[in-house]
Amino acid sequence: MKVPTNKLTDIIKHYRDKLIFAEYEEKEADSLLWILIQHYLGYSKIDLVKEPDIRLSESELLKVHFGVKDLIHKKPVQYITGTTQFCDLELEVGEGVLIPRPETEELIFLINKDLKLNRKLKSILDIGTGSGCISVSLKKNNPQIDIYAIDVSEAALKIAQKNSVKYKLDINFYKINVLSKKDKGLIPKVDIIVSNPPYVRSSEKVMMDRNVINYEPELALFVTDDDPLIFYRVIAEIGLQKLNRPGKIYFEINEAFGEDMIGMMKAMDYQQIEVKKDFKGKDRFLTASLA
Ligand code: GLN
Repeated sequence: MKVPTNKLTDIIKHYRDKLIFAEYEEKEADSLLWILIQHYLGYSKIDLVKEPDIRLSESELLKVHFGVKDLIHKKPVQYITGTTQFCDLELEVGEGVLIPRPETEELIFLINKDLKLNRKLKSILDIGTGSGCISVSLKKNNPQIDIYAIDVSEAALKIAQKNSVKYKLDINFYKINVLSKKDKGLIPKVDIIVSNPPYVRSSEKVMMDRNVINYEPELALFVTDDDPLIFYRVIAEIGLQKLNRPGKIYFEINEAFGEDMIGMMKAMDYQQIEVKKDFKGKDRFLTASLA
């Protein structure tokens, strides 16, 4: 990939074409390129308007070059820059954690709203915290609440911890595998359980983007086709033992399983079971209570 000059406008044109050739849409190519430029060089579009003759040093050029190369290999830009935006926060992410999705922001809005209405709710357990996005944003908005964030992955816990430190939040992190009977004793009693566990069936892989399949952690995404609700069942069982009454559970779910989830939660004696849609109109969240 030979670059014609070291002028930023030429460089943008050059790499934009490369990205379009690699099958990125024009708009996406532009916005990804600007994310890299902002990240590596600190320039925004406005800077270029004010100063059209910005030129790059050899080392600056190389950074952009390798960033674009990663994009061409379909590496998610969030893993290239190591950051993502979530609920007004800038969080660290890495290949050991799922990149937080906008749907999960909606889950935060739901919980924040309920916490405002019910001041008696004092503690939250976040199961499979990943980057810590749920715990960090809940704690930031509700500093009075005790938060316990657990994950089976050491790599995820490290990143989640960094994100809590970045925002000076006191969150309790534990390495716990909810599928292990032996670990269950370590789980604290709480007023709320929230979880966005793995919920994509292996058979759904064929419909997913290469950037997800090749780069995001399988551990955080996939379940087998013969037991796709495994995490929800185990977590709902944990709820029966560990939720203070009245307690509430919030799940992000696979859109294909709204009805099955309602049936399962009913059979386990949960009440006020509701499935809610995400901004795309898909069944994405389930809330339920224990009286
Ligand atoms: N919503 C994510 C995706 O579509 C999956 C999240 C999960 O498995 N918990 O890739």
